[in-house]
Amino acid sequence: MKKQRICIVGDGLSGLMTALALNKLEGWEVHLISKKNKLLKDKRTTAVSASNFDFLNSVVRKLDKKLFWASNKINLFYETKDQNMNFLNFNEDKKNLMYIFENDKVKVKLLKEIKKQKIKTLKKNINNLKDLSGYDLKILCLGRSSKIYQNIIDKRSLDKDYKEIAITGYVKHSIKNLNTAQYFLKDGPLAILPFSKNSFSFVWSVNKNFPKKGISAVVKSKICEVLKTKNIKISNQQSYPLTLNLKRTYYKKDILILGEGLHTVHPVAGQGFNLVLRDINKLQEILKYYTGLGMSLKSCPALEDFTTNRKAENIITGIGIDLTHNFFKQNKLLDPLKETILKNVSKNNTLKKISKFISNQGLSI
Ligand SMILES: Cc1cc2nc3c(=O)[nH]c(=O)nc-3n(C[C@H](O)[C@H](O)[C@H](O)COP(=O)(O)OP(=O)(O)OC[C@H]3O[C@@H](n4cnc5c(N)ncnc54)[C@H](O)[C@@H]3O)c2cc1C
Repeated sequence: MKKQRICIVGDGLSGLMTALALNKLEGWEVHLISKKNKLLKDKRTTAVSASNFDFLNSVVRKLDKKLFWASNKINLFYETKDQNMNFLNFNEDKKNLMYIFENDKVKVKLLKEIKKQKIKTLKKNINNLKDLSGYDLKILCLGRSSKIYQNIIDKRSLDKDYKEIAITGYVKHSIKNLNTAQYFLKDGPLAILPFSKNSFSFVWSVNKNFPKKGISAVVKSKICEVLKTKNIKISNQQSYPLTLNLKRTYYKKDILILGEGLHTVHPVAGQGFNLVLRDINKLQEILKYYTGLGMSLKSCPALEDFTTNRKAENIITGIGIDLTHNFFKQNKLLDPLKETILKNVSKNNTLKKISKFISNQGLSI
């Protein structure tokens, strides 16, 4: 039987992982199309759950474990009038809760794997869907805001501009046994993500009008204050505008959107790429099923099945993260009440178990 052809456009984390996952399917020929010129280096880290790490491991042969920093403790703090109150801790003795990796290093590894697996790669700026004729399935992993999406889906999507930016960067430090942590500060949530013994990355989401002047000094002083240290060195500082975008339409005919283009969520819960990995896992499973039945994409409902399987979880998670973000936003009336609520959260083991399960495996809808 003639092989069906898939093209994946975009070589961010979503595109690279999709190419590798779908290349495992028999009966399909995978091509990856990426832009000719890149402007910004991705100097962020990403935290993935233990179950998504297992999926990554199943897709990438001989995954270099040194690229992933395992974390088995996560501590959450809330800034009150006189302290950062530690209101919730997740601890595991025998297993890991999450794995943190540097985006650019893992992208290099995924690209090497793509070459090793002889997946055809093409350098091309796609501006028109006609450029993709000849493929049975076209998957667009073009990031959060490509104009190309407008040609294939209706405008009904959940949109919100947080009017915030995420300031990110790498930090060298000498703190012993630093754990992964999230500080819900008055200025906005600050995540501390260790990725080696003496390095961590941070993501601090603040109002977009946050002082632009001397921002590096402000960031450094805040991190030193929070971690009660003096000796840190910051590098690779970047900033990202923050929006919520949850698409209601996922595909048209034989064109599917994946990645940030399908759901862009606030980074406060570190769930964006985790959702993408669950999407890719499900897509791989569905395509394998129909290919196994000997059906072509044209005669099977694979993309509709994918939408049915993934849309509810993606939308509920996006809204859940938005509610969490709103809860922790400064509010003079509610702030004293929040302290009481959070003190009770720390005592509630069921809530802890549910949060741990959802962060690891999603909603399993
Ligand atoms: C500050 C921050 C922190 C985050 N932290 C986490 C975390 O800890 N855990 C987590 O799970 N998620 C996290 N996320 C989300 C995560 O970063 C993204 O889900 C992930 O990077 C996937 O992005 P993507 O590949 O879909 O899009 P992008 O990275 O935007 O990639 C899109 C690609 O498409 C290419 N492209 C665009 N247009 C064209 C075109 N016309 N032709 C060809 N190519 C094109 C671009 O060059 C680019 O390579 C975070 C996000 C932010 C903003």
